Amino acid sequence: MPEHNATSKREIRVLITRQAWDSALRPLLVQTDGFAVGPIQWRREGTVWEALCSRLETTGQLPRGLARPPLDDWLVVVMQGDTSLSASQWLLRCEPRRSQRLIVVVLGTADLSRWDAALWDREQLRDVVEISVVGGGGFRVERSGQDSPVMEPQTLERSSRTAGALGQRVFRRVGSSTVTIVGTGRLGSLLAFHLAGLGVSRLRLIDPDVLQWGNLDAMPGLTERDVGQPKAQALAKRLLAFRRQLLVSYVRRSAMDPEAQRVIRRRTDLIVTTVDDDAPRLCASLIAKQMLTVHLDVATQITREGDEPSEIRADIRLLTPDRDGGCVACVGGLADVEQTLYQLGAPPGVLSRGEPIAWHQQRAGSLLTINSIAVGVALQTWIDLVAGRLRSSYWHRLRWRPAAPLETAGSPVFAEPDCRFCQARDQRFTGKSAG
Ligand SMILES: [Zn+2]
Repeated sequence: MPEHNATSKREIRVLITRQAWDSALRPLLVQTDGFAVGPIQWRREGTVWEALCSRLETTGQLPRGLARPPLDDWLVVVMQGDTSLSASQWLLRCEPRRSQRLIVVVLGTADLSRWDAALWDREQLRDVVEISVVGGGGFRVERSGQDSPVMEPQTLERSSRTAGALGQRVFRRVGSSTVTIVGTGRLGSLLAFHLAGLGVSRLRLIDPDVLQWGNLDAMPGLTERDVGQPKAQALAKRLLAFRRQLLVSYVRRSAMDPEAQRVIRRRTDLIVTTVDDDAPRLCASLIAKQMLTVHLDVATQITREGDEPSEIRADIRLLTPDRDGGCVACVGGLADVEQTLYQLGAPPGVLSRGEPIAWHQQRAGSLLTINSIAVGVALQTWIDLVAGRLRSSYWHRLRWRPAAPLETAGSPVFAEPDCRFCQARDQRFTGKSAG
């Protein structure tokens, strides 16, 4: 429908969680001529409008606008059986109200990569250019069919061993990724260099602090000349020296700051948190949830008894944006819920959960050695998710005790069904959606 685009350069994309996609589309594939319906919220960035959908329910009847609230924004997925109507034809059949925004996605049962989609935007019809299924084993289908960036020969040679190890498909997906890192200190800077080495295309760095001498021992890649500069800025500069083609940007603010939150809300493939403070961790976790973005939380802890190290621990939590993927509050817990709520400016209340884990108690410094292990495990877990080998949220726990074998435990994890943070419908702690 190119004629509808003539009046606007707006680019419409659709993001659906893997869980919503699976739960709705699997049944639709076998019972043709069914529909899946769900609410959408919007993320707008310049001329790009993204419709985010994390809930789809199947129905046998054609959904109609009159049956929904006047200002509803909603999505309908049609599995095309014998009929062959276009998305805009299906859209008109749904009779959306003038005040509603409706997206119709039409899929063919034979080939899911052949799709058609259109948006009814307050009486205007617009084209949809891309559909992404996000989370474990997610994929992205652009209408043009071009989904991989062109690489220069130098890049190909430089990354040949990484590409050989990951396989071309996963390497391309990692290479087209944008990653947002909240906290660019000892763990965050190491993570950023690992990601740059793996070949991601864009990094966004968020940290309010200035680089101190006391940070430098665990931040290889940064130099003595960087001391006194903002951490995120110094790291960005060194990352560019490491890989000139990397796109790096930074914000010298805490994740609690509205400007930093605007950046965290931007389109990204992964949000990483490496901060000790629970309030920004939770904030980033909930934005990830709301924006249908995978969240990776990395933490290490060293405890001592007198002069002896008693235990070294690392916790790596990869949280998918699926509804039951969980957040840092219900998977692992916060050190002090009331204090975190206070910092978030939210009314205090009671949480019904298990024993929280206190990261900060009896903390005795941090070590580059254990940070390196944690970062390696964290990114390898993300790669598993990108590759589709991992489908749910996952928690790795590592424990190192002097002169004993490394203890590891890991398991898929799920949201607490009554989590007041990630299971709340209104998400009041992180503000409203862009729409
Ligand atoms: Zn939660």
